[in-house]
Amino acid sequence: MRAGAFVFTPTKAPPLVVLLLGEEPKMAINKPVQDTWRSQTKLVRGGTNRSAAAETSEGLFLTSGYVYESPQEAELAFKGEKDRFIYSRYANPTIAMFEERMALMEDAKYCVATASGMSAVFASLLCQLQAGDRVVASRALFGSCLYIINDLLPRYGVETELVNGTDIEQWEAALSRPTKAVFLETPSNPTLDIIDIAAVSELAHAAGARVIVDNVFASPILQKPMALGADIVMYSATKHIDGQGRVLGGTILFDDTSYLEDHLKPFMRHTGPCLSPFNAWTLLKGLETLELRIRRHCSNARQLATFLAAQPGVSRTIYPELDSHPQHDLAMRQMEEGGTMVSFEVDGGKDSAFRFLNALKLVDISNNLGDAKSLTTHPATTTHQRLSDEERDALGITPGLVRLSVGLEDVNDLQEDLAQALGSNH
Ligand SMILES: *Cc1c(COP(=O)(O)O)cnc(C)c1O
Repeated sequence: MRAGAFVFTPTKAPPLVVLLLGEEPKMAINKPVQDTWRSQTKLVRGGTNRSAAAETSEGLFLTSGYVYESPQEAELAFKGEKDRFIYSRYANPTIAMFEERMALMEDAKYCVATASGMSAVFASLLCQLQAGDRVVASRALFGSCLYIINDLLPRYGVETELVNGTDIEQWEAALSRPTKAVFLETPSNPTLDIIDIAAVSELAHAAGARVIVDNVFASPILQKPMALGADIVMYSATKHIDGQGRVLGGTILFDDTSYLEDHLKPFMRHTGPCLSPFNAWTLLKGLETLELRIRRHCSNARQLATFLAAQPGVSRTIYPELDSHPQHDLAMRQMEEGGTMVSFEVDGGKDSAFRFLNALKLVDISNNLGDAKSLTTHPATTTHQRLSDEERDALGITPGLVRLSVGLEDVNDLQEDLAQALGSNH
């Protein structure tokens, strides 16, 4: 074909008609999810809702709005008497497919997708809080989560208290007063502390609180907080769910209909932290390979943690599957495997840690995580730079601490890279 000879001509194909939410799916092109399907099948198939074009892959609906057959139909839609797409800040076919696939995987009734992990954290808390409410959270949190709890909420009259998440007595004391929400992260960033989700949930429920778990580090494959008693699970889909460093996104998962109708749905609709349809499409493709990737991330991480723990220049290796981890037994009860992250302390403080990072020939320096590419960061000078020396000490974030997000490269190449970079320290 001559260059430029390929001209797109509109075909006589029927217009694409989306199978709207609530309509009977056409069995031939949309095979309904079966309850008997196992989780890997749901990760590939769940939520798929093909248009009249009968596409194999999920359709990408880059549209902000939708058209109505008549003013009567628009009136019914706005009255809530006809279930259909109205505006992409409320719902969109591609985002709806992503939300349904996530909900199926987590065994949750509802999933609400957000623009980022942080908008998921913010919306899941703010939608239900008002001045005078009380929030209790674990201290070892992702930096921006700590900002919301510590700096932002008190500005709006919400009382917040931070506890050492691994100390159940501190939770007991903090939850001896009525509390609206509990927020925790396990394993925590970057020291991989493990919090007992079942025990904290029981105390929180007795205090009247909803429990929100930031499950980003474990991923939905390794840990199911709702099965352990949590009410709400949130993800930064930016991390393992995309897993290839392309887009930002977040999700909020839960079963409680009144939390959806009275709190989260109006908050999302009117404040607008919605996911982009393009990002939802990318994340749908990420979910198809999530389990495969997580298993490989974990086996690579296990080998590297074992290797690092045996190195003379490494004074501490933190990985939940190692016997030396302070909450090893709890981690093995609560998680299927040790996870994708390994943290370790290089002898000699910040200078040695920097020399090690500068000597790496394969692993990149980046504060992102959960990527196919192995990424490493120095928490004390990056993600946790904002904290005071005392706060960092309390969290165990020492000057020599390095956080490694183990990728999908050949694990022997990774191990050789760590070995030569540690060797440069002598
Ligand atoms: C990355 C991350 C977040 C925030 O997610 P974004 O998608 O970057 O907004 C929240 N919690 C944890 C544990 C994270 O790793």
